[in-house]
Amino acid sequence: MRMLRWAIFAVVGIAGAGLAALYFIPAVQDRVIAGIIDDAFSRQRDDLVGEDALRVAICGSGSPMSNLERSPACHLVFAAGKIFVVDAGPGSWMHVTRWQVPQDRVAAVLLTHFHSDHIGDLGEVNLQTWVAQRPQRLAVYGGPGIDRVVAGFNEAYAMDRSHRMAHHGPEFLRPDLGEMEAHLIAAPDGTPLRGDEDAVVYDDGALKITAFAVHHDPVVPAYGYRFDYRGRSLVFSGDTAKSDSLVRHAQGADVLIHEAMLKTTVAEMEAAAARHGRTPFAKILHDIPDYHASPRDAAETAAEAGVAHLVLSHLIPPLPHWLGARVFLRDTGVGQVDVRLGYDGMLITLPAGSKDAVFEDLGR
Ligand SMILES: [Zn+2]
Ligand SMILES: [Zn+2]
Repeated sequence: MRMLRWAIFAVVGIAGAGLAALYFIPAVQDRVIAGIIDDAFSRQRDDLVGEDALRVAICGSGSPMSNLERSPACHLVFAAGKIFVVDAGPGSWMHVTRWQVPQDRVAAVLLTHFHSDHIGDLGEVNLQTWVAQRPQRLAVYGGPGIDRVVAGFNEAYAMDRSHRMAHHGPEFLRPDLGEMEAHLIAAPDGTPLRGDEDAVVYDDGALKITAFAVHHDPVVPAYGYRFDYRGRSLVFSGDTAKSDSLVRHAQGADVLIHEAMLKTTVAEMEAAAARHGRTPFAKILHDIPDYHASPRDAAETAAEAGVAHLVLSHLIPPLPHWLGARVFLRDTGVGQVDVRLGYDGMLITLPAGSKDAVFEDLGR
């Protein structure tokens, strides 16, 4: 007993001395900070771009509604040694920077549509990957209107580019790689994809990316994307109400990342906003349910398409605590589909030559 008491005194004494040294002695503080910095720089996630699997990370699982837990729409797809960004919602890219993803591997951005919660960080994606020494111009794919969006961001960041080139030198920040390049996805006559229409965006023999129309009217163009790589498949719904085109294009997919709006709660929010004189907010809440899908709609779509794993993302409204998550998922029991709530930092790995899906947390 006596020995134990002395041991406890010794441990507490050493810990206390250590904390005091950390708090009061600059040399100790500098040493600890240097260790933290060295550790951070040693952890670049080159493993994520390995060609052994199709991977996706969620860098934004939220919507335009203010939510400190969830950035607006953003996803990274890792395939064929490259990174493809599906939507770049405002503030979402900070996750990617913190995860130590090799940003020079970003090959393209694919925009589902041009609502602000899907494009706000486009300038940051371009800037950060340029600084990371991306070896080609950043290709940005989208429906008709993509040239205006890309030209607008290029112009908005023109002063920033000139400042940085002046400071770091044009050998390091190559002027020819600084501006993004627009790539149109459209029907053969140049109009937006509609109904069941689709278009192959990329095909190198191993990786195929297909864009298809979804139903977000009056927002046109509005697209979803399907990735097929080494026998594994991943589909993004984009923003959509329940859509036959999505069911068709998600057939047999391993993972479907689907937007979802809890419409009963949105109706409660509309009534509360009206009661308290928040008329503009009530108007928006009244208008939005008709172009989004409920969790039940998403689950039915996944079941009809024979999808193995459904991940709900672009969640409306925010879910501030566990009760919201319970309510969000309670009507999603349809067929054999594994249904999960997506979150910022969710990483899904689909190894080639298997049926496995490995879910991990990259942190926020
Ligand atoms: Zn939208
Ligand atoms: Zn949206």
